Amino acid sequence: MSKASDRRRFLFQVGASGVAVLGMQSLVVGAADAADMPPLDPSGPQASALGYVADGTTTDTAKFPRYRAEQECVNCQLYQGDATAAAGGCLLFAGKSVAAKGWCNAWAQKAS
Ligand code: SF4
Repeated sequence: MSKASDRRRFLFQVGASGVAVLGMQSLVVGAADAADMPPLDPSGPQASALGYVADGTTTDTAKFPRYRAEQECVNCQLYQGDATAAAGGCLLFAGKSVAAKGWCNAWAQKAS
């Protein structure tokens, strides 16, 4: 094998390793960020407009008839937390954590 070919292969391997390390770092940082975020206040303007509650079973179903018992933040497409954590981030509420057992009217089935 030529020196140029060896050099290309070496550079490719170094680059691929760097991408893998960066990906793992962002996963770790994401998990730490969720734990550090303050919980979403259900009485805040956006949260209350969407009927967010930290316990989905307390949803006002007269006001939010879309709610179903099996719908929780943890199985929502917008949830950013670990499936085993009590809370995690949400794409709708940047900088806040939502309860894994929470719910809001923007709930969407997480793709499996
Ligand atoms: Fe929970 Fe999904 Fe509403 Fe975010 S969008 S608060 S994860 S139900």
